[in-house]
Amino acid sequence: MEPKEAVLEIQDLRTGFTNQVKAVRGINFTLYASEIVGIVGESGCGKSVMAKSIMGILPRSGKVESGKILYKGINLLDLKEKEMRKVRGKDISLIFQDSLSALNPSFTIGYQVEEAIKEHNPHMKKQEIRRRALSLLQAVKLADPELCMKQYPHALSGGMRQRVVIAMALANDPDILIADEPTTALDVTIQAQILHLIKELKQSLDKSILFITHDLGIVAEICDRVVIMYGGIIVESGSVQDIFLRPAHPYTSALLQSLPGYQQEAAEELYFIPGSPPNLANDMPGCPFAPRCPYAMRLCEKSEPEQVFLAVDHSVKCFLH
Ligand code: SF4
Repeated sequence: MEPKEAVLEIQDLRTGFTNQVKAVRGINFTLYASEIVGIVGESGCGKSVMAKSIMGILPRSGKVESGKILYKGINLLDLKEKEMRKVRGKDISLIFQDSLSALNPSFTIGYQVEEAIKEHNPHMKKQEIRRRALSLLQAVKLADPELCMKQYPHALSGGMRQRVVIAMALANDPDILIADEPTTALDVTIQAQILHLIKELKQSLDKSILFITHDLGIVAEICDRVVIMYGGIIVESGSVQDIFLRPAHPYTSALLQSLPGYQQEAAEELYFIPGSPPNLANDMPGCPFAPRCPYAMRLCEKSEPEQVFLAVDHSVKCFLH
């Protein structure tokens, strides 16, 4: 078997804010070529901050404190903003959650898609840019790309707008797409169509995708591997099969239990995880899940468990292993 090609390596990444919140507390993972990795966790677990750290778009109050983000061997954290602008949108692109705020209501779709292309291709001819814009709108399966080019965002449905946002993220043929909850604002039917589209694009355009979500159900549909985050750290990671058939961390098991229909009994009474996620402004000397964990021991409150490998690609941080 050929070794997998790593396209993005995150090493001991730590991101904090001026209000003392330590949102990302030392995470490590690798994204390989042509795979979709789901980053899963409840709101406030650090997953979106991690994405913004990779893209270099943290708010002013946020700062990557240490670690490395390696793309093709280059640590993105060493790049100046001017250099990072060449990577952002060209090599690594972000699909935003809210298509309404990602699109400017004052400009037509055509203008905005063309601008996204122009940003990294300033010398491309006008006609070529237009052709590329049309082909992108075709690639995301918009029924009438010519008409869509002339329309303003408010004239499109939520699903159509999200397709446009995906087209813009693909404008410069990036290696990596980071999709930050791209279907959260959509109803279930449209969500299924957008997920199907992302899966198709990954295959046809050969992209590596980081798919950020709080929904393990979505992960089962489109991801190859899963990273479970809690309290700013990765508590478990593995293939979709590992996570769904052999969950090793009590938090992963609890997330699965709260999936509607995951187990026969669960269909009658939906499970929810008692308690709330930790306040990331506080120090957490032990396992961050300890206050909510039914198996917590005294040791769990005092020290953070080390990462243990249960299989080559399946790891967990829990004293039960
Ligand atoms: Fe629960 Fe302890 Fe494992 Fe944390 S380390 S998940 S508290 S058993």
